[in-house]
Amino acid sequence: MNRDDRIGPADIDLSVHPETARLDADGRLLVGGCAVADIVAEHGSPAYIVDEEALRRTVRRYVSAFRDRHPRSHVLFAAKSFPAASVIGITADEGCGTDAVAGGELRLALAAGADPARAVLNGNAKTDDDILVALRAGDGRGVRYIVIDNLDDVERIARLAAELDRDPVPVLLRVSPSLQAHTHEALATGHDASKFGIPSAQVEDAIRAIRAERLVDLRGLHAHVGSQLLDLDQFDAEAAALAEFERFGVYDLGGGLGVRYVPGDEAPTIEEYAERIVRAVHRHLGDDVELLVEPGRSMIARNVVTAYRVVTVKRGMRTHVAVDGGMGDNLEVALYGQPFAPAVIDRSGPAEIVDIVGKHCESGDYLARDVRVPRPEVGDLVVIPVTGAYCYTMSNNFNTNLRPPVLLARDGRTRVAVRRETFEDLVRREQIVSQEALLGVSA
Ligand SMILES: *Cc1c(COP(=O)(O)O)cnc(C)c1O
Repeated sequence: MNRDDRIGPADIDLSVHPETARLDADGRLLVGGCAVADIVAEHGSPAYIVDEEALRRTVRRYVSAFRDRHPRSHVLFAAKSFPAASVIGITADEGCGTDAVAGGELRLALAAGADPARAVLNGNAKTDDDILVALRAGDGRGVRYIVIDNLDDVERIARLAAELDRDPVPVLLRVSPSLQAHTHEALATGHDASKFGIPSAQVEDAIRAIRAERLVDLRGLHAHVGSQLLDLDQFDAEAAALAEFERFGVYDLGGGLGVRYVPGDEAPTIEEYAERIVRAVHRHLGDDVELLVEPGRSMIARNVVTAYRVVTVKRGMRTHVAVDGGMGDNLEVALYGQPFAPAVIDRSGPAEIVDIVGKHCESGDYLARDVRVPRPEVGDLVVIPVTGAYCYTMSNNFNTNLRPPVLLARDGRTRVAVRRETFEDLVRREQIVSQEALLGVSA
């Protein structure tokens, strides 16, 4: 074996790992000052590991990037990208508001300490319950804005506000600004055929319908054109498209900024994004508007890694390295074909090109293809960086998979934010077969 064919810890590209990730003197990978190997030894695998300090820094950077350029701005963390109370709480702690979709996320955010005065309720099919959570938040003062996505929202808000004897409810109107975002089809939300928002041709009528309701107070417009957007021109186009409608004092431009998933990707920085958005808003919508943005992915993605253990290695036409997780904890690959850059950590060996696959009974259960790693063996640790966005969110019980814990690592200490799911958690809702029988089996 040629020496050049050996790879090890120094070959891991840490630029896609969380900001505090580094190697110790023995070449072990640390996140938040904790060795991933020690975390897994204590808490098991798979596990989501949040780099808490890096997350706090990202939130502060986001808030000041916008405040410095436009004092009347609010950065709202899109809770759906990592709906754990502790994570939402950290973003609130560092100065972020919250964007919640439907009542469940809003309840979680409020419980986590989110300030209702800096929270927005989104959702394309809000039920009475969803709206009631928003109206009752903050001892009845309600959230900052409910975002109207359809005319039934208008009727519901007016009716529920009357029942609760409320003052007019501040709302934004989500428009679909006829933009085809350059991203995966499933992540484009701003085109005319989208299920989200009011198509541009109907916006004027919608504005009239909202104004006809005394208890609904239209303050501004909202748009969100897609996710994992890497071309900042799309945010210019979004602001320009909003300028086609009547002018308002409040604009919420949604989220969508993309991130680097693999070393070859290029993504704008938070500051570049803030600069472009603020400039576009000033040019098209006004210098003194209230500006809201709702980043999810770009706030959380890089601040989380998932740690797995290798269960088996199959060497045939291809080398399949199967780990103890997969599409049960990361649906991004199966849903969008999102590339990730896994690393086999804490070891050196001859380089081998492998596919990292999950343990679920589905051929699409891949985590990454053609990854160059030190020849893996059963028991090795695999770390996938940039799993902060939508992985925990869409974790699921496929094959009676037990969902992984969420661990916060900071300054060499690890805290359990969400414990690992147990079989008992899963069967607790079963009603026909007795709980005794179900729990008896697990013993
Ligand atoms: C999903 C979503 C976001 C967050 O999008 P990211 O791409 O994660 O930044 C923001 N606003 C709304 C309305 C959304 O649906």
